Amino acid sequence: MAALTDAAADATRLPAAAPDGADARLIAGRGTPEPDWLRAAWLRALPEAAPDALLGDARRLVVVAPHPDDEVLGAGGLMALAAARGLPVRVLALTDGERCYPTLPGAARASLARIRRVELHRALERLGVASGGVEHLRLPDGGLQAAGAALALRIHRLLQPRDLVLTTWRRDGHPDHEAAAAAVADAAGRAGCRRMEFPVWGWHWAHPDGRDLPVADMRRLPLDRPTRARKLWALRAFASQLGRGSAMPAAAEPILPRWVLARFRRDFETFVL
Ligand SMILES: [Zn+2]
Repeated sequence: MAALTDAAADATRLPAAAPDGADARLIAGRGTPEPDWLRAAWLRALPEAAPDALLGDARRLVVVAPHPDDEVLGAGGLMALAAARGLPVRVLALTDGERCYPTLPGAARASLARIRRVELHRALERLGVASGGVEHLRLPDGGLQAAGAALALRIHRLLQPRDLVLTTWRRDGHPDHEAAAAAVADAAGRAGCRRMEFPVWGWHWAHPDGRDLPVADMRRLPLDRPTRARKLWALRAFASQLGRGSAMPAAAEPILPRWVLARFRRDFETFVL
């Protein structure tokens, strides 16, 4: 099938030094500190792309998010810039991220799912994205690998020609993020849509010298001050991930502690073409 061929072709574009073992993409501890990334010469030297160059002739920007917050973390700036240009922005929220605190019992998980849906709507409002821009697929958090081809079919049904489709990076290290990327590659390929990916957990486990990242295919989108401010305001909507509010267990660490959030407070975003 064409989608498999696309995926295989894309995989060969990864640098030869990219690790193949899952262990190399382990998400543990505090990960690569943000100051190491900011000192990385290759990251500073990435080719810059203006918003209009990235958006091209797209009629809609569609962001496929494995969990609510991935879209703002990786692409909140570009979403705000697209919305400011009058481009319709849509989010496909694949899961509600209800298993982010594994010790939560079932009833509390259902409540967390509701809270995370509300947080996502608030965040999108803060980016300037029109209400009604979200489709919640309510797939099980942690279950996207198992969804397989059905996930690509569901995404494909929601795409239109001339959509620009964004999702998490195909080697991001989180199984849901990698499944989302594979499904988007399949769906967008068949719909004839252009697509781009953004690292989220990749910034956590990858080496700051760039050996693990597809550097040759990455572009840097500078965020002006108002756009960055909008993105930071939108990120503050995810209280359940930041350790605020009543939705997380008392003893749990927030999913987005200060050292993780630092990677998404940059005055630029990076996209894999
Ligand atoms: Zn995620």
